[in-house]
Amino acid sequence: MEKLKKMGIALILGLIMSFSSNSNVYVCDSSTSVAYHASDSCKGLNKCSHKIISLSVADATSRGKRACKICY
Ligand SMILES: [Zn+2]
Repeated sequence: MEKLKKMGIALILGLIMSFSSNSNVYVCDSSTSVAYHASDSCKGLNKCSHKIISLSVADATSRGKRACKICY
């Protein structure tokens, strides 16, 4: 029974880890950028003259970014 419980926890942790790594987005590290992107090679990031950083969706939205219209 204890073993089953541990397997269940490992499974859930694995799901959370894969979910959070899948939900990473890219934003231009500039105060004028408004969007987050699914890919760092998105056209919307071409004009970014700042650093491109990778964040979770929650982090990006908390910084006031919305989903890019080109890659979403
Ligand atoms: Zn984009």
